[in-house]
Parts: sequence; structure tokens; C-alpha cells
Amino acid sequence: MRALISVTDKKNVDYLARSLKDLGYEIVSTGGTLKRILDAGVSAIDIEEVTGFPEILNGRVKTLSPKVHGAILYKRDDEEHRRTVEEQSIVPIDIVAVNLYDFQGALKTGVHENIVENIDIGGPTLIRATAKNYKDVLIVTDPDDYEEVVERLKTKTDDLLFREKLAAKAFALTAYYDSMISRYFLERTSLDSKYFSLGFEKISGLRYGENPSQGADLYKDNFVESYLSNLEILHGKEMSFNNYNDLNVAVELAAELGENSVVALKHATPCAAARGENVLSAYVKTYNADPLSIFGGIVAVNGIVDVETAREMSKTFLEIVAATDFTEEALIELTKKKNIRLVKVDFSLSQVQIDLKYLNGKVLIQDRDKAEDGFEIVTEKEPTQAEIEDLKFAMTVVKHTKSNAIVIAKDLATMGIGGGQTSRIWALESIRNNHPDKDFTGSVLASDAFFPFDDCVILAGEMGVESIIQPGGSQRDKESIDKCNELGISMAFTGQRHFKH
Ligand code: 5GP
Repeated sequence: MRALISVTDKKNVDYLARSLKDLGYEIVSTGGTLKRILDAGVSAIDIEEVTGFPEILNGRVKTLSPKVHGAILYKRDDEEHRRTVEEQSIVPIDIVAVNLYDFQGALKTGVHENIVENIDIGGPTLIRATAKNYKDVLIVTDPDDYEEVVERLKTKTDDLLFREKLAAKAFALTAYYDSMISRYFLERTSLDSKYFSLGFEKISGLRYGENPSQGADLYKDNFVESYLSNLEILHGKEMSFNNYNDLNVAVELAAELGENSVVALKHATPCAAARGENVLSAYVKTYNADPLSIFGGIVAVNGIVDVETAREMSKTFLEIVAATDFTEEALIELTKKKNIRLVKVDFSLSQVQIDLKYLNGKVLIQDRDKAEDGFEIVTEKEPTQAEIEDLKFAMTVVKHTKSNAIVIAKDLATMGIGGGQTSRIWALESIRNNHPDKDFTGSVLASDAFFPFDDCVILAGEMGVESIIQPGGSQRDKESIDKCNELGISMAFTGQRHFKH
């Protein structure tokens, strides 16, 4: 009986080699792995003795040989296979333990030559060959499986189902590995390829999905580095499916609003946001914008939460506070709360450019909706400099709000957010209805898409809105512009729609 071991990650390899040796296997191994096994005091055969050929081209060719692949792919119950193997003096291999060159690690170096050199060729070939012939040859790709494999071989419980599961794991690994390589090359060449493979690594199971009846898991996209890549959960219960989904939107918006911004969010749509002179003022402004909705919500803080802010936060119930960091005192204050989750987010990383929706058998992939600053004043009246800052702020918030969406803001804080409405005027009416006691005088308004009629302008005027920003582009733009001129409201067109569904 023979086992071939060739691993980059040498974790547990001494244990595997020794255990297989004890079970009566001859060990065959490649350069670095062989050295490691011999150093551990386990005898092993150099791959070169099997192939009758030296390892060449700096290891690019080690195991790529009919002597190796014949020994793996040979079907034990096939008469002709058996004859061929005998004629060619091929010694069958019964177990293959391989893991691959660290391509992901190489990606982080950013050095193309190094990245290319870390594309494993022989390893995936060994894995795929063995997994194809899983009935006769056992494939082990995960060092965490060594113990179970040894135990099953010992007790002769390495049944077909177990072998097939190892093969499934092996094919998933090579597919993942190749997806990383293909994404690297597609990105470099900007090629619009017919095929696109995304590879994800499972991080954990989740208690459930959007609802308790839905199963769910959390995966990581190792190809990108973005806000949630290095998420650090400092305190609290395990994050739920909805927590992750909500957190993502809150963090994206807080990142776009800039330092010293705070976003409060519910059901993946913001309920309040503000930018302040510091984190404390931004939080107080956010809280005051909508003290009702923030209850049980998620708060993203683009900045460091200090103890004063933590004390303010403690006055209500928050599911999650995600921030650049927390001072030690703030942590002590906030962890007094039993059910809060505290999360560290890296706002210094950039936004992922890909946005993906899985439909029933179709997948939509689009670029992220990027923020753009440009706008043009279309009314007789011009907004003041302060109003311009508020208009830009409101536009950023409305971009992250579910359509149809309207945001009213003043002094870099939202006053009301109307989102997820099936009619544009209802988005504005919902703000007025949800905040019956508010005085919107001197505020600005942003709309995620154009006004089909002048009704929003009329209502905005009644509410006291002074300036409006919207994409423009409606056939009836003129009606809205005329109405603004009549009411003395200034209006800017951005030319860029921000639907979000
Ligand atoms: P070692 O540290 O033993 O020298 O190398 C182990 C690595 O070599 C494993 O990760 C394995 O996947 C890889 N490997 C095995 N055979 C070949 C081959 O023929 N070509 C290349 N490029 N890599 C191989």
C-alpha cells in the first residue's frame, strides 16, 4: 500500500505520515514535504524514485508523470487497467494527501511574478485525478481531516460515502482555487469573459436566515478587502443574517458620509444619519432626528466611540454599534448592556465594486452605485453654500435608502427619511405623516429619482423646504422647475438616478 503526501501547509503532516506508516503504507513524497517527514523520523520514498525523473523547473514539475497519475487513476476492477499498470511497472497509490500553494497569500504581495509562480499545477492535478477515482483512492485535502482518515483506515470504516465526501471536498477546493486565479486574471485584463466564477470560503453557519424557517451560512469573499473583510466582533451574541445585511448598508453609508458620521438603520434602510464636529455630536444629531426608529436599530459610527457617546448610546436599546474603534471606557460603558453587539469595522478599506443578486436560475451582476458630486442649478434661485452641503449630504443618504425614497435634511442631519414607497409622493407624505410635530423650515430635500409631476415640489413648499436635489430627466421637469420658481425654492439636477431595490 502506498500513500503520496505533497503539502504546502505542513500542519499535522508528521502525524499523518507516522500514522500511515504504522498502518503499513509506504510513504512517497515531494521535495519540501519529504524533508519534513524524514526530519520527523519517518522513512519515505523520494518522488523522483517513482517518476524516474528529477523535480525540474523550480518545482513546476514534480509529480506530473504517468508513473504517478497512472498509479492514481487506475481502476482496480478494470482488467485492462490492471494489465497496463503491470506492463508499465506502475506501483498503485492508495491515498493522496495534498494541499495547494498559497495563491491567496501570494495575491496579498501584489507582485505579479510571485502570484503566477504560486499557481499550483501538479497539486490540483493530483487532487482531481484522485477525486475522480475516489472509489479506489482516498483524497485528503484538509489537514483537519487527517485524524478522522487515520481512525477510519484503522477501523476499516473508510466506506464509499466517506470517500465520496472527501472527493466532494476536494473538487470544491480546486474549483475555489481556480476561481481565485481566474478572478485575478480577469481583473488584470478587464476581460468581459463568458464565464465568471466566484469562490467563497465558509466562515460559519448562522442560526437562521432572514426568517427562522430559513437555513443560512456566512461565507467570505477572500478575493476582496473591504469594510466587512476584517470585521471584529468585540462583544455580544453571534451576529445574525439580518444583522450582517443591515450592517453592510449602515457601514457603506457611514463610509460615504465621511469621518465623524453616524448612521442609524433598520431593515437595510437608514432611519437617520448625521455628520458632526465629532462622534458625540453626530450621534446626538442622529438620535434626535428619529428617536423612535433607532430603538432596536443598528448604528454605524465612522470614528472612535468615546465614553460620552457611549453614555448617550446607553440611553436607548441598540442591536449593534459598529465603529472604527471604541475607547476602553466606552467599551466598559457599552458592555454593561446585555444584548448589544459591538463590532469593529475598517473604514479605511474601499468599497467592493461588485453587486450581485441571485434570482431563480439567473444571476444579476452590476457595478456598485458610485457617489458622484456633480449637479446643475435649474432654478432662478441658487442654494446657499450651507444648503449645498446639506443637499450633497441628503443625496448620499437617499442613495442608500430603498426606493422610492426622499430624504429631508438640515445642518448635516436627516430630519426625515421616506423610503420603500411605491409612489414618489408617498415617500414625501410619509415623512410629513411620521413627523407631524416637526418644523421643516429651512430644510433641503433629496429624491433618488426624478419627479414625474410637480406634486412633490408643492408639498415640499408647504412643509418649508428651501432647496431640492434630484436627478431630473422627467418629461415634465419643466412643471417642477416652474413650481420651484413660483415658490422661491432652489433646485439642482444631478443627472444620476439612485434606485435601490
Ligand atoms: P513540497 O513542499 O513538498 O516541495 O511541495 C508541495 C507542494 O507541491 C504541494 O502544495 C503540491 O500541491 C505541489 N505539487 C505537487 N506536484 C507538483 C507539480 O508537479 N507541479 C507543481 N507546480 N506543484 C506540485
